[in-house]
Formats: sequence, structure tokens, C-alpha cells
Amino acid sequence: MASFEISILGASGGPLDGGNQGILLSEPVGDLNKKYICVDAGSGLRQIASMMAQCHLNPDSVKSNCWNDLIESLYENHEEPLRSFVDQKCLIIRGLGSGNGLATDETIMNGALRVFSNIEEYYITHPHLDHVAALAINSPACSDSEKTIWGLRPTVEALHKHIFNDVVWPNLFAQTKMKLRMHSLEEYQSRPVKCLPHWFVTPLRVSHGLTVESRLPCTSTVFLIQNTSTEKAVVICGDLESDVMSKKRHLANVWKHLRKTVPLENLMGITIECSCSNATKDEHLYGHMSPNYLVHELKELSRAYGRPLDGLQVIILHVKMSPGGRDPRLVILQEVRQLAAAQGLGNVNFSIALQGYTFVL
Ligand SMILES: [Zn+2]
Ligand SMILES: [Zn+2]
Repeated sequence: MASFEISILGASGGPLDGGNQGILLSEPVGDLNKKYICVDAGSGLRQIASMMAQCHLNPDSVKSNCWNDLIESLYENHEEPLRSFVDQKCLIIRGLGSGNGLATDETIMNGALRVFSNIEEYYITHPHLDHVAALAINSPACSDSEKTIWGLRPTVEALHKHIFNDVVWPNLFAQTKMKLRMHSLEEYQSRPVKCLPHWFVTPLRVSHGLTVESRLPCTSTVFLIQNTSTEKAVVICGDLESDVMSKKRHLANVWKHLRKTVPLENLMGITIECSCSNATKDEHLYGHMSPNYLVHELKELSRAYGRPLDGLQVIILHVKMSPGGRDPRLVILQEVRQLAAAQGLGNVNFSIALQGYTFVL
């Protein structure tokens, strides 16, 4: 039985604007009023609306499976088959997951606002604009729903100081009309999700390179999300770099924590960034991963569990759309799969997070 629906509102690592990282999570229940949480908010309401519109305007397409879909590509072919991006063993659906329809006489905008108002919590990995822009832009639609934004202390402080500072964006937390709150999380402390009774979220701190000017460490977060009724878990990562690059043990600690808290067979999937291909030199990674480092870290995870990662779904996010002939998402996927096979990682299923689709895990 599936435990999670992971809807990709956006997965781009730039430099294209729009479609940046935003992940909507819910339980696979077909209830129009089901609750959601979001990890990151680089994309938001607009993408919810366009996912609902696509299913509403082409109702027959919802029933058909999406394996023959063509995905927009800006490279050698203008479209690429979905099956080139997604492992065959993945359960993937077009649009939002179950319960994505419109109520009788509901417009697409009202339907999208209903889903939006049912997002009760945001978990922000780090305060870079490509992960938070929709928090600000969508905020006028927050007036009739309660929302809490959670993040590690550096994230929350940066959002207060640099985004909602009454200059870049109004300080919405200083007024009572909107039921918007922001609180910090303690690393490695799990907390229950209020709107999803069996869900617990644990923030795990990781490194995301150094700031450009002052060369200070840039903190990001990996969120472990556990469903205590099914005992299954997923891991949703923000931007991050390998321990090899940071020369710290952040990811080693994340892998150790997973081994201690989640049996491998209950770990349904990891969404993790791989921004650059292996052609990128280390000094140009800027706190991100390439296939060499991703496979190295997955090998460390496998070592922590003491066995191959058979059956694990790894969903790759945040690919940078760099210049070139071939779609960088396909280049990275191929490099990752080849390295994983060469290094005996086990039967790991690698896919690319495709905007507009929902992975059911
Ligand atoms: Zn970042
Ligand atoms: Zn980013």
C-alpha cells in the first residue's frame, strides 16, 4: 500500500525562472479536502492551478497512464518521452495525486485555492530564492487559511530578515489579519505534522557550500518524513553538497540517522538534488551535487545499512538547465545510472522529478 504522494510543483535548478523547487506531499486518499504539506516553495499556486487545469480540461488523459506522455525539452528534441526520465518501476501519475478533481461548479482558480488553503505547513530547506519565491508571491491568497512555515533557525532568521522585512516583501508576521506563522525547528528533533495525524518530520542539517563574499557555511536541510501508521518514510532534500566537498560529516550523520530510525525496506524513496553533470569541475559546483558525488553518497548510505539499496526509488531534482545539445536531465540520469551499476549500488530505481507529475510511493 502506498503511503505518500509526492507532487512535483517545480524541480528546476535554474537558470530558467519559474518551475523552481516546490514539492507538495499528501496521503494517497481521494478526498477533495485532504491536507498537504509542502517542502520548499520555489513554485506554488500557479503550478497547482495548471496541474488541475490539465486534468480538468483533458479528463480522459487522467484515466490513461502517462507512460506515453511527451515532456517538454529545450534541447536536441523539443519533446522527450516520459519513459526516458522515469524508472519503469515507478508509480507516476499526471497532475496532482488522488482527490485532484474540481468540486461541482468550481472554477480551476477556486479549486487551486482550495488545494492551496489545505497546505497547512511549509518546510523550507534553505532561504535561497529558488526555494522560497512562491511563499511571498502566493501570500495574498493565505488570508483565509492557517499556515505555518517551519525551518532550521538560520532559514527562519533569513526569511524574517531578508524576505519578509517590510522592504523586499511586507512583514506579514507583524499583522493579525493573516493566520501566517513561522517557527524554527531543532535539528534531529522530529515533530508531528498537525494536519496529517500520522506524519512526523525530522529536519537534518546539511552543507550547501559557502557564501560568496564572506565564505561562511551555507546551511540547508534534509527532511525525513515518516508515516507512523504504515511505518514508511521518504526523504526530501534541499540543495546540498557531498561530505567530500564540505569536509564535514553532515551527510554521514544523515545516513546514520536513517539507518537508526528507518529499516531500509520501509524507506520508500529519496528525492535528492543533482544539479550538474560530471563535466562540471569541483570549483563550479557551488555547494551542489554531480553524479560522481551523488553515487558516492548513496554508496555511503548503502554502507550505513550494510547492504545494497535494492528497491530504493531515487528521484533526482534541481538539475541546472545548462547550454548544450542533450537535455541535461537525461545526461545526469545516464551518468548516475552508469556509475551506480559500476559501483554495485544494488537495484536502485533512478528517475528525474518531472514538474506536473506525482510520484506515488
Ligand atoms: Zn540553494
Ligand atoms: Zn536551489
